[in-house]
Amino acid sequence: MSVLVVNSGSSSVKFQLVEPETGRSVASGLVEQIGEPEGRVVLEFHGEETENRREIADHGVGLAVAFDMLENAGVELGSDVTAVGHRVVHGGEIFYRPTLIDDEVVKQISDLSALAPLHNPPNVLGIEVAREQLPSIPHVAVFDTAFFHSLPAAAATYAIDREVARKNGIRRYGFHGTSHEYVSGRVSEFLGRDDLNQIVLHLGNGASVSAVRSGVPIDTSMGLTPLEGLVMGTRSGDIDPGVVMHLRRNADMDVDAIDELLNRHSGLKGLAGVNDFRVLAQKIDDGDDDAALAYDVYIHRLRKYIGAYMVNLGRLDAITFTAGVGENASAVRADALASLEGFGIVVDPERNAVRSKDARVISADDSAVTVLVVPTDEELAIARATEQVVSEQNVSEE
Ligand code: ADP
Repeated sequence: MSVLVVNSGSSSVKFQLVEPETGRSVASGLVEQIGEPEGRVVLEFHGEETENRREIADHGVGLAVAFDMLENAGVELGSDVTAVGHRVVHGGEIFYRPTLIDDEVVKQISDLSALAPLHNPPNVLGIEVAREQLPSIPHVAVFDTAFFHSLPAAAATYAIDREVARKNGIRRYGFHGTSHEYVSGRVSEFLGRDDLNQIVLHLGNGASVSAVRSGVPIDTSMGLTPLEGLVMGTRSGDIDPGVVMHLRRNADMDVDAIDELLNRHSGLKGLAGVNDFRVLAQKIDDGDDDAALAYDVYIHRLRKYIGAYMVNLGRLDAITFTAGVGENASAVRADALASLEGFGIVVDPERNAVRSKDARVISADDSAVTVLVVPTDEELAIARATEQVVSEQNVSEE
């Protein structure tokens, strides 16, 4: 029995069929360029890739094509799939655990769109079309903000007028929660301890850090939106909010233009013209000064957060790298933790150079802090959360 995990974005939908118990991914795929003349649906099933290029008018058409391809590959959606798990970016103050979806839940997620205008509307679209096409199985929403719902008030609160903040739902919510929860849990299992003080570095296109004490997050770098914190592929991360006012007043930019600048044309892309870390590394090798500066800014910010979280945790047991950059870029891992022997952090260069898809330790034996690389698996985490909700539901109905 498997769970279909759906991650619906504005112009693309990623899906994966996962067996929650074994962790096996049965099939995975992607619908791309929705709304454009030349769309594409790709399905990987048992290591074989099939592709369907055609116009995909909207999310409904995209998912219908994807479901047809799954059926043609031999998946009986009606009987093999027990539930659908939907990744939802913003759960606001309302949703802090995986939630069985009904019409009211869809409406509430939609109402949270003011907090996540780029993310929640396409998430809702994905939920609506999947519920239409697979009406007889349960659908569950798993929220990216949920893990951070219990952040201590000191970490969750912005120092602005309390009434303005309260009226407008302004607080630090945190994102990538499914990944931070999954990875910190895997580190606990791996090291056989549940009382760990950990820092998790999720470094993908989007990037965030969390500080986790005994499984509970005490801080994270993203805030009201996924814009705060680290330097990312196309997002600035932390900047002086005065920059926004300055641009508004002096650069003839309206709010949408500033939003676009900070979310899509900043970070590595803004500094070096590329957001893909592999291309950035190539440019640095070719002697590109902008790329070298972008890398330095990226590492500088990362080290600042590591230092801050180390102090806030008081004692540090483990630092873990995950996601595309964290799992693959050994230079980033080495540079982020260089010269920290005085803090008990020693990366072993040979262990760090190993390429592997498995969770592994990369610190030296005499490092007081264990440094790890743990591949994230948000789809598996969503599938497991979905199955849990469905089985609790079944018990309560019995
Ligand atoms: P997303 O946030 O889109 O899920 P990923 O976690 O897939 O992102 O990470 C994407 C990033 O990982 C890209 O910047 C990509 O260049 C980087 N990446 C992937 N493989 C490697 C690699 N072998 N070396 C360096 N960076 C890599």
